[in-house]
Amino acid sequence: MLSNKPDSILLGDLKKLVTTERRILSDVICHLEEVNRRKLYVELGYRSLVKYCVGELRYSESAAYRRIKTLKLSKSVPSLMGDIKRGAINLSQSTVAQKLFDGRKVDPKKQIEIIKEIKNKSAKKSEDIIREMLDLPKRKCFFSIEVKDKTLEKWNEVKARFAHLDLTDEALFNRIMDMAVSSVYALKRGNDLFSNKLSGFKSSNPRYISKNLRREVYDRAGNKCERCCGVYSLEIEHIKPVGVGGKAELENLMLLCKACNIRSAIKFYGLEKMKNYV
Ligand SMILES: [Zn+2]
Repeated sequence: MLSNKPDSILLGDLKKLVTTERRILSDVICHLEEVNRRKLYVELGYRSLVKYCVGELRYSESAAYRRIKTLKLSKSVPSLMGDIKRGAINLSQSTVAQKLFDGRKVDPKKQIEIIKEIKNKSAKKSEDIIREMLDLPKRKCFFSIEVKDKTLEKWNEVKARFAHLDLTDEALFNRIMDMAVSSVYALKRGNDLFSNKLSGFKSSNPRYISKNLRREVYDRAGNKCERCCGVYSLEIEHIKPVGVGGKAELENLMLLCKACNIRSAIKFYGLEKMKNYV
């Protein structure tokens, strides 16, 4: 059973599976290329390779699109399949590359050079590199969310109240986000309305961490998880748990994100005891 596999075997097996997955992916693309060359999809009543991929192979439109773009790119860049097998190039990167090459008559030598440059990069970074190498305008980022009328009214009210600052929508939104982030830190650091206002307050709860101590932990950690540097869902953890005599002292406290905190609890208490928390 998977849940009985030791950690190292589980991690090793997953890596092997992903290697197999990549090999299969490159085999699938090679097969698609041959099906396309022979136009076999026509025999089966499909007007295009995309329609065949969706109708016959049950791929989603986007999964079919990514595979076909990759197939197209592999014709100009023969080393592409090897890169995919090794994990140096993934489908998102090959798709973004081919999308930018389409209709631009990019010399195959240049395409090979570009693919070499984007190896082991994220899809976003790859797009930036390709745009620069092809002398294209920089990538634009859009942020769009579907909202209710009430939310839009609220946003318009915020805009009206800050109108005197004469900010663009983006600048105003950034300001509001900065305010939100700093107020979250203020709350987490113990400055919230519910913290005990009495000076010298001593709690009998051994888990109690005073406002000042919380602030010291956050300052020492630079407001980041002390293990992975993440900034989301931060919690203060007792290095030696309170249950086994650990104290709420700076040396025994650590700022961790939720995932790192749960991982360290699993290491200490075991997966069985932590099963309700993971
Ligand atoms: Zn972390």
